[in-house]
Amino acid sequence: MQGDDAMHEDEASLGEFELIDRYFGPGRPSVAGASDAARRSPGATRRSDVILGIGDDAALLRCPADKDLVAAVDTLVEGRHFPAGSAPRSIGHRSLAVNLSDLAAMGATPAWATLALTLPAADRRWLEGFSAGFLDLAAAHGVELVGGNTTAGPLNINVQILGHIDRGSALRRSGAQPGEVLAVTGTLGDAGAGLALVTGRAVSADRAVAAELIERFEYPTPRVQFGMAARGIASAAMDLSDGLAGDLPKLARASGLAAHVDVERLPLSPALRSLAPLAQAREWALGAGEDYELLVAVPAQRFGDLAAAAARLNLTLTAIGELRRGTGVTWALEGLPFAAPGGGYDHFR
Ligand code: ADP
Ligand code: MG
Repeated sequence: MQGDDAMHEDEASLGEFELIDRYFGPGRPSVAGASDAARRSPGATRRSDVILGIGDDAALLRCPADKDLVAAVDTLVEGRHFPAGSAPRSIGHRSLAVNLSDLAAMGATPAWATLALTLPAADRRWLEGFSAGFLDLAAAHGVELVGGNTTAGPLNINVQILGHIDRGSALRRSGAQPGEVLAVTGTLGDAGAGLALVTGRAVSADRAVAAELIERFEYPTPRVQFGMAARGIASAAMDLSDGLAGDLPKLARASGLAAHVDVERLPLSPALRSLAPLAQAREWALGAGEDYELLVAVPAQRFGDLAAAAARLNLTLTAIGELRRGTGVTWALEGLPFAAPGGGYDHFR
């Protein structure tokens, strides 16, 4: 038990229900207005479409009548999705961010989340950091945590996100057409470099560069606003969780098309460029994953509109290639065939 904080000394043991109430439910001190905890996390979102949230056997949610319900779930396992001993705030943020990213890729508006948490121990410091990381990001997107499950065991975080979208308007992987432009938001490879820095596979003499790249791994920004803006402009979308080399073939296959990428067009951040030689930076951009940028297909004549929508969100949109008739993905560097790093992460290979 970490009882080094005076506020906590009188709370030697923390039961399951007290834990849920205190860190995730109505008993959260920031919700009750206690100033100390309020610094750690702003008030949780309270949505009027939540008829019944945390506390009963299930949540009751009111989906707008003219919308499609959109659902996604993702699990984070210690040692697999984040290094053991990662900052709890980062784990809380990432566990929701990866789900928000899936909704962003559909163009959906996120609304509600549930959280199934398996914890080795009821560690107050860990729970404070984790819940703040999760709930701060939830508040930033107007998402309410409406339920979950808490058990003891090896650290495992499972988040489900629910949202909605105007009927029939979701962005799918399958909507791309031949001749359309392939484009990505933001920059690629930063999170992969950040993870390499965290795990000691890369080193940087420049602290600011290292901090920026590590931040990109630990606190990914799901492109929710861009995804919503892309509805009606982009014809297909997916989020980049496994790296472009692993993810692009999925979009091409779903659309029944071939894809071509000019590797020299991949957007690389100044921080990434200063950390590593161009070839290494490109390898991270193509193969490392964890960037949670969006990959979209857009008709060439609409690319300008989509880039302008991105710019309004302080985001860059970079054309990197095109969709073609056929199957498979081809890569070129300065016009010559290029061997991209082998295809994406597979948990069972
Ligand atoms: P049940 O046994 O009916 O599944 P629990 O007693 O496990 O319910 O949980 C009580 C309430 O707390 C439920 O509303 C559940 O959704 C919520 N809950 C449990 N764990 C969490 C968590 N980690 N985050 C948010 N809500 C949670
Ligand atoms: Mg029950």
